[in-house]
Amino acid sequence: MNGGSSHPHAFSRFCMHCGQRLTSAIPEGATKRRMVCLDCGFIHYLNPRPVAGTIPVRGDGHILLVRRNIEPRSGYWVFPGGYMDVGETAEEAALRETLEEARLEVGSLELIGVFTRTGPGVVVIVYEGVALGEGEAGDETSEVRWFAPHEIPWSELAFDSTEWALRAWAAKRGL
Ligand SMILES: [Zn+2]
Repeated sequence: MNGGSSHPHAFSRFCMHCGQRLTSAIPEGATKRRMVCLDCGFIHYLNPRPVAGTIPVRGDGHILLVRRNIEPRSGYWVFPGGYMDVGETAEEAALRETLEEARLEVGSLELIGVFTRTGPGVVVIVYEGVALGEGEAGDETSEVRWFAPHEIPWSELAFDSTEWALRAWAAKRGL
């Protein structure tokens, strides 16, 4: 899962429609300052890109985490997840990312929570899923490992949102 260090279009200076320079202004009827195109009226909104992921759970209560092998936070642990694509639901994105990053199918998704923060704009949608296999390292990961709840490597998690989601999962399970 990518935590996202900044919005990909945060520093765009030109209108994506007509190519004119953008100007900082408060659009009519709005309350926030935006980058707007005075030529064609386009308003350059900066919206966070949702991330969806799963916490796969095995029959013995262990959960699967993957070790990232890309930056940012290469070498740190995270549950499988990534940016939603246009055309898929959050559940579909979570399942696809789990298959890509952990080569694992999961079923019976149950929402654990939606975790957001300001700044670069992070929206992480996290499900628990019943693991239908053991999984193995896949895209962007060097290793998968099953952790008992008391073995979760809290000091080696990749992102704040990883910790928030795992704590919410543990609380939900009464751990
Ligand atoms: Zn324009």
